[in-house]
Amino acid sequence: MSNGRILVIEDNRDNITLISDMLISMNYEAILAYDGQRGVEIAAAEKPDLILMDLSLPVLDGWTATKTIKANPELNHIPVIALTAHAMPGDRERALEAGCDDYASKPIDRRKLIRTILAHREGRTALSSRQVPD
Ligand code: MN
Repeated sequence: MSNGRILVIEDNRDNITLISDMLISMNYEAILAYDGQRGVEIAAAEKPDLILMDLSLPVLDGWTATKTIKANPELNHIPVIALTAHAMPGDRERALEAGCDDYASKPIDRRKLIRTILAHREGRTALSSRQVPD
């Protein structure tokens, strides 16, 4: 049993390799999409447990892809963590405005990204395992 399925929407080969290896080591199943449009389609088809979203993507950028996912009532509960490569001030704010739940800086710091993912996963686990009063 894996800990869950994480959709990685990213077009940079090195980051895809790094993140895939990291997720496997965390016992997560990685689902990959290389552009924003495919990312939106795969999110709807697979309903992953969490999404890692690059912002600078071909076809559809990460901000628009996030807005589209968050506008879908069947998907808007899925945590979206933006991968922000941009040094431009305001990009993180734009990511949060687009509906991203959190962000992680590029170049990717493996330990920080693991902590960010787990923080969002632990919230869900705690919620779902909460005792229902009788
Ligand atoms: Mn990119």
